[in-house]
Amino acid sequence: MLKKQAKCTICKTKGLKNKAIVYLPQHRLALCKEHYISWFEKRVQKTIDEFKMFSKNEKILVAVSGGKDSLALWNVLTKLGYKVDGFYINLGIGEYSQDSKEKAVNFARKINRPLHILDLSTEIATIPKLKEISNRPACSACGTVKRYYMNKFAKDNSYEVIATGHNLDDEVAVLFGNTLRWDIDYLKRQYPVLKEEEGFIKKVKPLCKITEKETAIYSFLSDIDYIEYECPFAEGASSIEYKEFLAKLEEKHPGTKLQFYTNFLKRMYPILNEEKKEDKKLIKCKICGEPSTNEICSVCRLKQRVGV
Ligand SMILES: [Zn+2]
Ligand SMILES: [Zn+2]
Repeated sequence: MLKKQAKCTICKTKGLKNKAIVYLPQHRLALCKEHYISWFEKRVQKTIDEFKMFSKNEKILVAVSGGKDSLALWNVLTKLGYKVDGFYINLGIGEYSQDSKEKAVNFARKINRPLHILDLSTEIATIPKLKEISNRPACSACGTVKRYYMNKFAKDNSYEVIATGHNLDDEVAVLFGNTLRWDIDYLKRQYPVLKEEEGFIKKVKPLCKITEKETAIYSFLSDIDYIEYECPFAEGASSIEYKEFLAKLEEKHPGTKLQFYTNFLKRMYPILNEEKKEDKKLIKCKICGEPSTNEICSVCRLKQRVGV
């Protein structure tokens, strides 16, 4: 909680007495608007440097959903001087897709950067249709097609890096779920940088050390207009339950989430990747030529079922 009349920690060191508007318990910082924005942006820059995500010469494509995380990420990276274009996939999920697309388009105009838009209905089918035909949960089909088209588009248009807006809460919820199941294959790959390999573009998560709340505050203070409700299909996902549980822990013990995540990266991730066991070999899909673990990739299989 922010104490009444609390002064900004950074302003104080400069002999100024600006009032703090944000308190960050796990960092023990109380900050004014200006210093909160610069704290946030420096933290993203530090994460980019720590994990050697990309340089200012590289062409970066950011996955834009119209939500606060992806728009905040696009905003920060552009302000930090990186060359970043946006990529929006119209999933065809009724009002949600209409609203989120509008936010993405308006934001691109505001920061004056190109936004590429891909319509899923012309490529394969909308998510509601895919859910119906494939008999798979919507989020699973959605994840598959998003990864596929994002990667393909980036390659075809000579982007070198794909950046996504996954934040600390997302990463911690996934890590928690993977740990509960001891899903070693997933744990081995849970890192904020996935290197380029056999047909896959490098993927990075520059917001991995920033909480959802911190992004929300940043977006608010930076006047970013984003879509405030979740995709209707996300309801009831187990990751949301994990997030609620982890939020309770965090409230009692500030810093728990960050510690769980950073200690995993520091202590556990290297152990899991010690033995270089042969992972499942990637081959090229017989139909589209994209990397796949099977003869026909999952998107082409979905296409067969849809009949396109
Ligand atoms: Zn200040
Ligand atoms: Zn394919």
